[in-house]
Amino acid sequence: MAYLSDPKETIAVLQRYHFNFQKKFGQNFLIDAHVIEKIIAAAEIGKDDVVLEIGPGIGTLTQYLCEAAGDVVAVEIDRNLIPILTADTCKDYTNLKVINGDIMKTDIPGLLAEYGNRPVKVVANLPYYITTPILMKLLEDRLPIASITVMVQKEVAERMETGPGSKDYGALSLAVQYYAQPYLAANVPANCFMPRPNVGSAVIRLTLHEKPPVQVKDEKFMFTLIRASFNQRRKTLVNGIGNAPETGCTKEQVAEALARLNMSATIRGEALTLPEFAALADALGSMKQ
Ligand code: SAM
Repeated sequence: MAYLSDPKETIAVLQRYHFNFQKKFGQNFLIDAHVIEKIIAAAEIGKDDVVLEIGPGIGTLTQYLCEAAGDVVAVEIDRNLIPILTADTCKDYTNLKVINGDIMKTDIPGLLAEYGNRPVKVVANLPYYITTPILMKLLEDRLPIASITVMVQKEVAERMETGPGSKDYGALSLAVQYYAQPYLAANVPANCFMPRPNVGSAVIRLTLHEKPPVQVKDEKFMFTLIRASFNQRRKTLVNGIGNAPETGCTKEQVAEALARLNMSATIRGEALTLPEFAALADALGSMKQ
């Protein structure tokens, strides 16, 4: 069987089907076997696993996934790619199910139900235009997923991994770290893709926590505060949270909560750890009642 990780094979398939890359779908196909091997190794896929692949493209990563995993379900938005996958590049894999659809509108638990209680791992070279919404859906919907190993834009990977004090620290870092343990598995240069993206890329693995690392009374409220704090990064928390109507908090309440927690009245969101945001949410939550 011909592997698409060989650039000559990818070019042959693209020509055979007169395929035109769709920019609006973030189509940058992998053409490097080493990178694919790194993704498979980082995801630690075994024969017991069910893999959910988002955006299989012409099937470059899919071929390796089908060989490593027990079962693979691949959701692809571009219907022009479906016959290429099912009747050509991946036609010999009996453990593959290809679905034509938008992952943001897919009933993922319904899709995975037929595989019972087996561990589900998400693996993807994600379309960059929609990386954060896809990851937030996978994390916030508490889907039955053990880990997520994805290729993303390098700076997005850095935002997910970093902590207080870094310029990259923000709402995405806190959300990802509340639900999962991030691990940056590899940096990937643009020449590993066809066409080349304008940005550097990285493979990141998120291992989902069984239980969040902090306890907070109202998770939703904590994330409302986090978003308000980073919407205006340069503002103090008193102004950032106190000026955002969706938090329902006054500046005086924020100042009082900070005082109770022995934090400076001029502190900014970028200085707070996840446990500190949880404590602030609990303190403000009790004042609002
Ligand atoms: N997995 C292939 C590879 O590594 O060569 C293709 C990766 S390419 C970066 C992203 C893929 O996601 C494209 O095939 C694109 O059509 C698909 N895609 C984009 N938006 C999608 C969505 N909302 N739902 C499902 N697939 C999507």
